[in-house]
Amino acid sequence: MNLHEYQGKSILKSYGVKIQEGIAVDTVEAAVEAAKTLQEQTGTGWWVVKAQIHAGGRGKGGGVKLAKNLDDLREKAGAILGMQLITPQTGPEGKKVNKILVAQDVYYPGASEVKEFYMSVLLDRASSRNVIIYSTEGGMDIEEVSEHHPEKIHKEFIDPKVGLQAFQARKIAFNLGLSGNALKEMVKFIPALYTAYVESDAAMFEINPLFKTSDDQILAVDAKVTLDENALYRHADYAEMRDVTEEDPTEVEAGKFNLNFVKLDGNVGCMVNGAGLAMATMDIIKLAGGAPANFLDVGGTANARTVEAGFRIILTDPNVKAILVNIFGGIVRCDRVAQGIVDAYNNIGNINVPIIVRLQGTNAVEAKQLIDESGLKVISAILLKEAAEKVAEVLNKYFIILIYRLSQRPKFRTLFF
Ligand code: GDP
Ligand code: MN
Repeated sequence: MNLHEYQGKSILKSYGVKIQEGIAVDTVEAAVEAAKTLQEQTGTGWWVVKAQIHAGGRGKGGGVKLAKNLDDLREKAGAILGMQLITPQTGPEGKKVNKILVAQDVYYPGASEVKEFYMSVLLDRASSRNVIIYSTEGGMDIEEVSEHHPEKIHKEFIDPKVGLQAFQARKIAFNLGLSGNALKEMVKFIPALYTAYVESDAAMFEINPLFKTSDDQILAVDAKVTLDENALYRHADYAEMRDVTEEDPTEVEAGKFNLNFVKLDGNVGCMVNGAGLAMATMDIIKLAGGAPANFLDVGGTANARTVEAGFRIILTDPNVKAILVNIFGGIVRCDRVAQGIVDAYNNIGNINVPIIVRLQGTNAVEAKQLIDESGLKVISAILLKEAAEKVAEVLNKYFIILIYRLSQRPKFRTLFF
């Protein structure tokens, strides 16, 4: 689950991590009040207005603006609130800005230089360890740094048995070229950040820029946080931070039925039980030159209700030209699923795309019979090979014939039939 910057910062702050202070608002008037409050609290006379959307690169897209007085602030808050913000991460349609963060300006000039660093904490799957990734080249061009100067990106792996060690925090601070008070501040910042990451059950904390002010404070100016959804039951207050308006509406709907759904951009809708079989089904479509319209795992306990919800969700996608249902009846009985499909078909009505159903496993023969006798335009098959042939018949598409050919290969036969 992704968080907004202001939410990520609030978690950081609760762990004692120093942040660029700010107040999130959704009207221009509230923005002006927030600016005055920040002025009282921090003494700042300049503010940054920051669009709160679930995408990075806001600065580049015009979603982060400096305001030097209250009139200026009013104007910039008005311009950003409600805008359709396009950044390198939003896609060409952009995202509507419903909230802004009014933050204190921390880039004020002073005795020593300001500096933007990069730091993130995440799980490195290859080494099964948490890793702190950091660079002296923080700011808005970190993607270019990682592409053209990978040597400037450093990694510090954390041993899960002992956790982050003090020497590691010192090493990182030295590698960032810090000294004096800034070094001390960084050595405090890193373990606080790491603790926030671990204790909030996060998948990622990315701080870019991690900022050194001219008076040697170390602050998180931005926070891109992804929490592990599976651990949200331990954090009721974080669960409330979910912003469904930032998520794909069909994925939100699927979540209500415990369906694991990910929208893709192909034309063959798939409904499969088990993530592994779903991946394999998508792979075989893809290998054959076709494209799945979605990933959908209806789970090990597919029933009439979940099957119907699955169909409804798949059918909201206008690109879908056929639906391939591929269910292996292990715990779940195929005839139950078949009945679910027939019921769903009748309940939804007006389904214009062909549905090819492949049911294999417990009671597969009964299931096939049920579908064949239902009188509906659902085409049944027991073997995936048959299912592929039948999709080919209805779609008359070359790639499905390829699925069939692939299915004839011994390697695939052992995998799927
Ligand atoms: P992102 O572009 O979505 O990653 O948003 P950031 O929160 O990282 O902000 C983008 C850029 O805005 C930063 O890299 C800074 O250059 C600038 N910025 C952020 N905070 C301040 C501030 O307090 N003062 C000034 N002058 N610039 C800021
Ligand atoms: Mn940033």
